[in-house]
Amino acid sequence: MDSYDLIVIGAGPGGYVCAFRAVQLGLKVALIDKRATLGGTCLNVGCIPSKALLHSSEHFAFARRHAAAHGIKVGAVELDLPTLLKRKDEVVAKNTGGLALLAKARKVTVLNGTARFTAPQTLEVTPPAGGGVPSTRIQLTAKHIVIATGSAPVELPFMKFDGSTVVSSDDAIAFAEVPKKLVVVGGGAIGLELGSVWSRLGSEVTVVEFLPKIVAAYDDDVVRNFARILTKQGLRIETGAKVTGFARGVLTAERDGQKLEFPADKVLVAVGRRPFTDQLGLDLAGVQLDEKKRIRVDDHLRTTAAGVWAIGDVIAGPMLAHKAEEDGAAVAEWIAGKAGHVNWDLVPAIVYTDPEVASVGLGEDAAKAAGRAVNVGRFNFAANGRALAAGTPDGFVKIIADAATDRILGAQILGHGAGELISEVVTHMEYGGSAEDLGRTIHAHPTMSEAIKEAGLAVSKSAIHAI
Ligand SMILES: Cc1cc2nc3c(=O)[nH]c(=O)nc-3n(C[C@H](O)[C@H](O)[C@H](O)COP(=O)(O)OP(=O)(O)OC[C@H]3O[C@@H](n4cnc5c(N)ncnc54)[C@H](O)[C@@H]3O)c2cc1C
Repeated sequence: MDSYDLIVIGAGPGGYVCAFRAVQLGLKVALIDKRATLGGTCLNVGCIPSKALLHSSEHFAFARRHAAAHGIKVGAVELDLPTLLKRKDEVVAKNTGGLALLAKARKVTVLNGTARFTAPQTLEVTPPAGGGVPSTRIQLTAKHIVIATGSAPVELPFMKFDGSTVVSSDDAIAFAEVPKKLVVVGGGAIGLELGSVWSRLGSEVTVVEFLPKIVAAYDDDVVRNFARILTKQGLRIETGAKVTGFARGVLTAERDGQKLEFPADKVLVAVGRRPFTDQLGLDLAGVQLDEKKRIRVDDHLRTTAAGVWAIGDVIAGPMLAHKAEEDGAAVAEWIAGKAGHVNWDLVPAIVYTDPEVASVGLGEDAAKAAGRAVNVGRFNFAANGRALAAGTPDGFVKIIADAATDRILGAQILGHGAGELISEVVTHMEYGGSAEDLGRTIHAHPTMSEAIKEAGLAVSKSAIHAI
């Protein structure tokens, strides 16, 4: 039986980062995934393909709707969906292929098969039906095993995925035709991103959300403005609506006792993801789940079984690729006897629509609900020179700072490129920065990032370019 210092189950952003970091620290590592390519959900069917589609559809929308305002005549704009999808597949292949090269260069043993515990430190790996590496079922053992098996889309029990009409994001990144009417169930990041993609490409898109607002974790003022902009772009947004079923091309829902009907030729169910632990044999390893069926871990990501660790989407915390990556690096360091570290309070979250919405730390509404005394600085992109030059004046930056110390507690940004801009605030927060620090940091002109400096100044009512 082959023996390793560390075996990682699942080669998503959590698993592959863990494996790569462990090899850097001198460990002998095997990385197992049932998929033929590395990168997990994120690279294969998540972050990367969705962003490729968002970029392509954004170019299409620009050519159709905005080019003329810049003095660019493009004539008739036509969609070539097969090419758009082929490009997306090529982007995915470049990313997953790049990872395979990195794994080879780092001498990580990569195995393609489904792993299952047979005893606390022993795994059985079954290759896929068509054969893999290994070609037959094998047993492996290791001092440490990291479970990084990620998550799977949540299914509505009364509306099961059928792969063609009622679908998950796995299918909605690859529709062979633009659906005439697409209903998206769930107004979170995945639903709004893929809803935006198909809306830009010509679908009539309705987003049906159970909660009173979309992207519920954001402040009310951010959501109100975001929803207004998306509606202007053509998305129909129905909040407070509980989906009850789908039959004969009509999705039904209820709001305040009233029946709602939404005709749809495709329904994308994007109501969340569940931790994926199916058929892992966790009971044979002594690994316990928590009340939400996530793998139970302590503050060093150790499970209830000695020598078994868990990271990423399969444990508590935001289901985000960069959070999984940080978990993975820290666990590799802990296993190697180093001082790993993750600041789970500062995981930025982004919705990659246009404009984007990004946040980190505490929002204004949450701070006030918790009775914390805060000062909030807000600056509109409509008063930012670069935003006006680029034609992206929608949105604003909000900085939330402690009223007594001025320390930054959080930020929310609605605006073009908000996902890039939020990193600056994360860095300031990592160093315990104050709103004044942000306001006194020189920002190049003209950049969208000047709105962050101004929002920092606005915390003490001293923004320069605002009334
Ligand atoms: C459409 C979509 C868009 C997204 N966009 C973003 C984004 O823009 N930014 C962001 O941060 N996050 C995004 N996410 C979320 C992100 O993909 C996940 O948070 C991230 O992939 C989690 O990483 P992970 O390593 O925990 O697990 P995964 O990436 O899910 O990887 C787990 C791997 O484990 C393998 N596996 C499972 N069980 C076994 C087994 N028994 N044996 C062998 N292998 C097994 C699976 O095949 C899979 O490859 C998106 C998700 C979706 C669906």
